[in-house]
Amino acid sequence: MPGIHETRRARLATLVAGRGADAALITRLVNVRYLSGLASSNAALLVHADGTAVLATDGRYAGTAARVCPELECVVDRDTAGALGARVKGRLAFEAHGVTVEAHRTLADKLDHAELVPLGRAVEKLRTVKDEEEIALLREACAITDRAFDAVLPFIRPGRTEREVAIVLERSMVDLGAERPAFASIVASGPNGAIPHHVPANRPIESGDFVTMDFGALYAGYHADMTRTVAVGPAVGHLREIYDLVAAAQRAGVEAATVRATAKDADAAARDVIAAAGYADEFPHGLGHGVGLEIHEAPLLGQDKTGKLMDRVPITVEPGVYLAGRGGVRIEDTLVVRTDGAELLTKTTKELLVI
Ligand code: ZN
Ligand code: ZN
Repeated sequence: MPGIHETRRARLATLVAGRGADAALITRLVNVRYLSGLASSNAALLVHADGTAVLATDGRYAGTAARVCPELECVVDRDTAGALGARVKGRLAFEAHGVTVEAHRTLADKLDHAELVPLGRAVEKLRTVKDEEEIALLREACAITDRAFDAVLPFIRPGRTEREVAIVLERSMVDLGAERPAFASIVASGPNGAIPHHVPANRPIESGDFVTMDFGALYAGYHADMTRTVAVGPAVGHLREIYDLVAAAQRAGVEAATVRATAKDADAAARDVIAAAGYADEFPHGLGHGVGLEIHEAPLLGQDKTGKLMDRVPITVEPGVYLAGRGGVRIEDTLVVRTDGAELLTKTTKELLVI
C-alpha cells in the first residue's frame, strides 16, 4: 500500500500531467514537507508527471531525509532547486508565489533543456482538504491549546502585565507537549483589546479589564488557533453586552460552516448578527481562515472571498468587535467542516469567564 506522502505526490503528478508540464519543482518548504515528510530549512522536491520524485537537501538534513523518506532518491546539494532543475527536460512547473526574483534568476541559469512554466498554488489547493492523520494532529494541537488556557487562568489578575501572561501561556503550551507556539501570542488588556493584533506590552492588567488572548500550539507541524476574552474583576455593562453579541455571532458562524456553504455565506452569517446590532464597522476583518501546516491557509472566509467549504477542511471562526479606546472582544475556535456537521477542535468554554 502506498504511504501517505506517495499518495499526495500521485495527486500532484496528475495535476502536473493535466497542465501539460513534464515535472513540478516544489520549493516552498511547507509543500516539500507535505509531499515528502521532510521538515527542513533547505529542500526542494521534483515530482515528474509520471509520479516519480527526487528530493534535494543539504548535508545538514541528508541523514534525516534518509530516515523520514527512504523511498525517495535524495540529491545532496546546497542549491536544491538548481540541482533538481538541471535534471529536467521539457516544461518545468514552478511555484512562482514562493520564489524570489533572485532565486528565479539563479534557477533559470541552471536549466539546460527546460522551460519554466507557472504551477500556481496547486499544492496549497491539495492541502486544503485534510486527511484523517492530519486532523488527528490538529486535534492534539488544539487539545494542548485548551489545556494551556486552563493553566494560565490562575495567573491572570490585576497587576500582571500582558507580556507576563503571554510568556506563561507560551511556556504552558511547550510544557504540555507543543513544539512551540504556532504564532506570536496576542494578549490584549483593557483599551488594547480594541487592537485586533495587539503585541503584548508591559501594561499591567487592571480590575474591570477585558483581556483577549489569541494563541495556539504547534504540534507535529500543525497549527492550532484559539481566542478567548475574559473579564478581570467586575465586567462592566457595555463590554458584557458586546461579549454576548460576539458570542452569538460566533455561534452563527460555526452553524453556517457546513459543506454546503461558501466562504462568503459563513462570513455573512456571523457578520449579519454584528451588523444588526449596529457594529458593522467595528468588525473590520474576515470571519476566519484555514489552518494546517500553516497558520493562515486556504480557504479564507470573508465578504469578498470565493470558494466553497468542503468535508475535512479545518477553519477558524473568529468574529470580533473592537471599540477604539475602550476595548474589544474576539472569540475564535478551530473546527473541521464535515458532512455531518462541524467538529469543534478547541473546546474551551465560550461562557464569559470572570476572574
Ligand atoms: Zn487566532
Ligand atoms: Zn485565526
